[in-house]
Amino acid sequence: MDREQSQPQPTSPGALAPHEALIARALQTAIANKTISVHFQPIIRLSDGSIDGFEALARWRHSEQGDIPPDIFVPIAEATGQIVALGLLVLEQALEEARAWPRDVSLSVNVSPRQIAQPHHATEMLALILKSGIAPHRLHLEVTEGLLLEPDQATLHFLSRMRREGVSFALDDFGTGYSSLAYLDQFPFARIKLDKAFAQRSANAGRSAAIRKAVSDLAAALDMDVIAEGLETASQVADAVAAGCEFGQGYFFSRPVPAAMVRELLAHQFGMDALPLVEAR
Ligand code: C2E
Ligand code: MG
Ligand code: MG
Ligand code: MG
Repeated sequence: MDREQSQPQPTSPGALAPHEALIARALQTAIANKTISVHFQPIIRLSDGSIDGFEALARWRHSEQGDIPPDIFVPIAEATGQIVALGLLVLEQALEEARAWPRDVSLSVNVSPRQIAQPHHATEMLALILKSGIAPHRLHLEVTEGLLLEPDQATLHFLSRMRREGVSFALDDFGTGYSSLAYLDQFPFARIKLDKAFAQRSANAGRSAAIRKAVSDLAAALDMDVIAEGLETASQVADAVAAGCEFGQGYFFSRPVPAAMVRELLAHQFGMDALPLVEAR
């Protein structure tokens, strides 16, 4: 296949709404200057409340407009193709931080379908992983959306190559429009992230509980673990435990925090001695 043809076609900034084109231009500068930062949110083992790992979440503080949330800039970066450079920047920073964590603490990073469809993306990501010295089996890539229903060659190559190297995959936002049962049939995810919509108790608590339980049973049958997302209250945690979810994530445990605070959380759980001394690069 002609390599040029399989490249995602970037939308030119001109095809975006004016305010989106402005954001895309500012984002270009932010990526080039590496002023995108990463926060981390703990993923908790519900059996004992311990930290399994952290999800890296991109953060962008614009000099004039203040914090711009990923729900705004990630879709724009996907439309323009900037998500490829952004994703590598986030991965690089997250891996660098993870070097300061105990060896059994995992790292989850979001990747968009647009990144994965990029030829040679696996090679670029693996180069960063190798450079960091982080064992690939500590890395979980979180994916959503139209990734696998009609996978192209580049996508299939990416998935099998990364899995061969020991990287595992989580299906993000499960139960929402884009992450459906069809995906589970197509690809062996290690984890399902049950969307935060299912953490809330609906008017009929029995129905919500039945849905959580059904997803958890399905995951068990397919040898996958479930992470309940968006747990904000003790009763939501109790509901996730009752459904049989292995892991939980949400404001009840911690908001996404800067890297320095991650080390405090880990020192609290593991003791200072467990933290590797990481020399500055
Ligand atoms: P996600 O991957 O599903 O990440 C979880 C989102 O839920 C995060 O929002 C997190 O801050 C938020 N959250 C966590 N706990 C709670 C809770 O208890 N209640 C509520 N209401 N929200 C909670 P954030 O950081 O704004 O990110 C939004 C989305 O942007 C992410 O959803 C992900 O899809 C995307 N994103 C963020 N960083 C990246 C990145 O580096 N690459 C890519 N491709 N996407 C990213
Ligand atoms: Mg995620
Ligand atoms: Mg999610
Ligand atoms: Mg999401």
